[in-house]
Amino acid sequence: MGGNAILQPKQEATYANQLANVQRSCTVLARLVERGHRLVITHGNGPQVGNLLRQQEEAQAVVPPLPLDVCTAQSQGFIGFMIQQLLRNELASGGSGRSVVSLITRVEVSPDDPAFGNPSKPIGSFYTEEEAKRLMSEKGWQLKPDANRGWRRVVPSPRPQAIVEADVVRQLLELNQIVIACGGGGIPVVRQKDGIYAGIEAVIDKDFSSCRLAREIQADVLLILTDVEHVYADYGRPDQRPLASLTPSSAVEYMEEGHFSQGSMRPKVEAAASFAAQGGTAIICSLDQADLALAGLAGTRFVPETAEAPSDSR
Ligand code: ADP
Ligand code: MG
Repeated sequence: MGGNAILQPKQEATYANQLANVQRSCTVLARLVERGHRLVITHGNGPQVGNLLRQQEEAQAVVPPLPLDVCTAQSQGFIGFMIQQLLRNELASGGSGRSVVSLITRVEVSPDDPAFGNPSKPIGSFYTEEEAKRLMSEKGWQLKPDANRGWRRVVPSPRPQAIVEADVVRQLLELNQIVIACGGGGIPVVRQKDGIYAGIEAVIDKDFSSCRLAREIQADVLLILTDVEHVYADYGRPDQRPLASLTPSSAVEYMEEGHFSQGSMRPKVEAAASFAAQGGTAIICSLDQADLALAGLAGTRFVPETAEAPSDSR
């Protein structure tokens, strides 16, 4: 589930607003469970972790600030709790006894990932240039100007190498649990020589982590729920065209032609294409159409290269 499923752009980040959005999302998810699908739910955390980081800074004279990996873990707990509670309630009101569990999830990244040499993911508050320079020298943060809105901290966004808790997810599925995992892309950790894991200041793209987890648990379908009904060619132009079906190679062609924005649709398409390239089915669709999309009646479907593709594919 994308960030919109939890908080819509321009909405105030009150708990009531977030609960109302998650309630809508859980109504959709409960329908999938009722149809017999076994779910592992992953979700974004952008606005939530941004606000937690801001709380650390604003309150630092009173309470010592916590690092980014801890804030990511907190956001997994916070969002996981909302989904766990509301989805469970929704299932119970439909007469189902299924239970839902959220799992604090770590994701291994490589300390040699090129992203560590080029922090690019903006997080948290906006600052004036003067504040930015002070934070760079005081905290050793990297900050960059962000459009016209001021300066912002940037952190590395490395690729997920392995989901540390994948085995636990598998075992919970065998126990017929609905699992919430990899929230916010997971907590990035690096594995040291002695086999010990350590947290690291970075953020992992949730679409890539979801793809990685889907592969590790051998999911049939990677379903990416967002706020648009399809992936479009020429998105936002008068002649935009919904894409019904893509193969990994046609997705790459569209990608190279620049149809998908960095940081929004592009990582989803990359994740979906990569899942399909390994033989799975991936779907990108709007949250409301999850059910229809699984039935093949909505959204953009990513299929392996050999599969028969409908006529609008290249
Ligand atoms: P989420 O919070 O679900 O991860 P994002 O905002 O990151 O959602 O990504 C979804 C957004 O991607 C859409 O709302 C749309 O504005 C944007 N987008 C960019 N390029 C495309 C495209 N080619 N087709 C569809 N949506 C696109
Ligand atoms: Mg996004």
